[in-house]
Amino acid sequence: MSVQPGPAQSPEYELLWRLNQRCNYRCEYCFRDGVDDYRSAEHPDCGKYPPEHIAGAFDSTGKRWRIHMTGGEPFLYPGFVELAAALTQNHRISVNTNLSTSNVYTFGEVVPPGRVHSINATVHLEELTRRESGVDGYVDRFLFLQNRGFNIRLMYLTHPSLPDRLVRDVETFRSRGIRNVYLKTFHGRYGDREYPMAFTRNERRLFKEQGAPRRELDIFDMETCFLGRRCDAGHIALDMDLAGNLTRCSSVREDHGNLLEGRYHFDPAPARCPARICRCTYQGMKFAHRSVVLEAAWRLYAWKRRAEEGVRRLPQRGSRSDHPPGI
Ligand code: SF4
Ligand code: SF4
Repeated sequence: MSVQPGPAQSPEYELLWRLNQRCNYRCEYCFRDGVDDYRSAEHPDCGKYPPEHIAGAFDSTGKRWRIHMTGGEPFLYPGFVELAAALTQNHRISVNTNLSTSNVYTFGEVVPPGRVHSINATVHLEELTRRESGVDGYVDRFLFLQNRGFNIRLMYLTHPSLPDRLVRDVETFRSRGIRNVYLKTFHGRYGDREYPMAFTRNERRLFKEQGAPRRELDIFDMETCFLGRRCDAGHIALDMDLAGNLTRCSSVREDHGNLLEGRYHFDPAPARCPARICRCTYQGMKFAHRSVVLEAAWRLYAWKRRAEEGVRRLPQRGSRSDHPPGI
């Protein structure tokens, strides 16, 4: 390991850190249920190191980091606010959250908004309606952070059960003062269909009219296979599990050491993607290099398959990633 003194003014490196598994929600579409062993009680490795140790591990790399924190529900991580405060002294963070916990207010008071790249606050309507503070509580926490200057966005999941109410919901949230509403493409199975491939043309049009960003529309178009392209994952971006183990990305589990134990390495240059399926769509879309020829070929292939199968049953080449668009 090469240790350089202090965080230098280098390019910002990126880390996707799945820091816990515990979640207080039970969304019926959550694919983590089949992946994580610890959903109610926290994983034994979670919170093993104090915040100063973790922040020091990032500092000792001599690099500036953008640490994207996801879970589980990150705000349930033991001492999450202290951890966020320690990390933001020299680095930036972003957070994927259901925005359900009361420590959101403490976070807003002690963490500087300028050190938080983004907060992706997914609204889970079914779970919210089961809870006492419900949608009102969500909106209150959201507006608190928004008013304190955080770059926070409401992530509205385009679940197949929701198109009928999407327009109404989005208008309601906006009328309550929420400025940034982001339509996030649903991945997964619903009924006997695999999404997002099974969304109809009308549904896609609706999502577009309601302001779904280009990268979400690209997911509909199957722009999610990066096999053979050079990718910066492993070179300037890594994945980390809750014990500190590093891999190239969520799909390619090449060992890159353990940051919290002070061992790590980066690939010297972007390497070609070996994965037939990029399970981390947003990482792939961000880090895989563009190739005009491959892209054109893939768009043609996707268009032909959609025409053949009526946009209903394309094989899933994309991912079931819940990574936020911010990464
Ligand atoms: S809030 Fe997120 S992690 Fe928790 S159950 Fe719902 S989808 Fe899964
Ligand atoms: S394209 Fe996706 S699967 Fe391939 S290396 Fe990059 S992030 Fe990993």
